[in-house]
Amino acid sequence: MTPRRCADPLHRGCQTLLSRFNPDDACSACQAAEAAIPPPPPEPYVPPPPYWTPERIVTALQTWAGEFGHTPSRREWIASRRSPHHSTITKRMGSWTQALVDAGMEPRPPHRPKVLPRPGQTEAIMRLLAEGPSTVGDAMRAIGCRRDVAKMILERLEAQGVVRPYFDGVMADGRRRNVRWFLVEREAA
Ligand SMILES: [Zn+2]
Repeated sequence: MTPRRCADPLHRGCQTLLSRFNPDDACSACQAAEAAIPPPPPEPYVPPPPYWTPERIVTALQTWAGEFGHTPSRREWIASRRSPHHSTITKRMGSWTQALVDAGMEPRPPHRPKVLPRPGQTEAIMRLLAEGPSTVGDAMRAIGCRRDVAKMILERLEAQGVVRPYFDGVMADGRRRNVRWFLVEREAA
């Protein structure tokens, strides 16, 4: 029977003969030396790169807009349960509005509940106009309503042909400058 030699696990040239009754394949000295080697230091933890890169976020927003046909508000994004979480979007992009801008979308104006004229307000504006031409601001102060309500009433009256606007000119964005409305003279029936 050929004598067994130490398997020399540390490659130190160990030639130690092993007893045939020894179940191990390395000598006790090599085993002890092997056990004494400190384990390698753990790899420093490197967090994985974030999955939701700005590019992926932009794509997600554009996909949403393509499906729903308009720019998503944060509320709508949350309601649609899409990924990433809205807080991830604002954290990575700076703000919700900035995310939309980066996605090439027009941020939507803040939601303002629509208010309809109350009974009597149209008549109050008619009485005001009977005294002379009025601006939206005049009408707003006269009946104590929101500016958009006064404007709505005046534009309805304009559409009905009851009042006519005159204005100083039209601005680049199409809005009329210094609009005043006056009552259209009615011929006696
Ligand atoms: Zn050995």
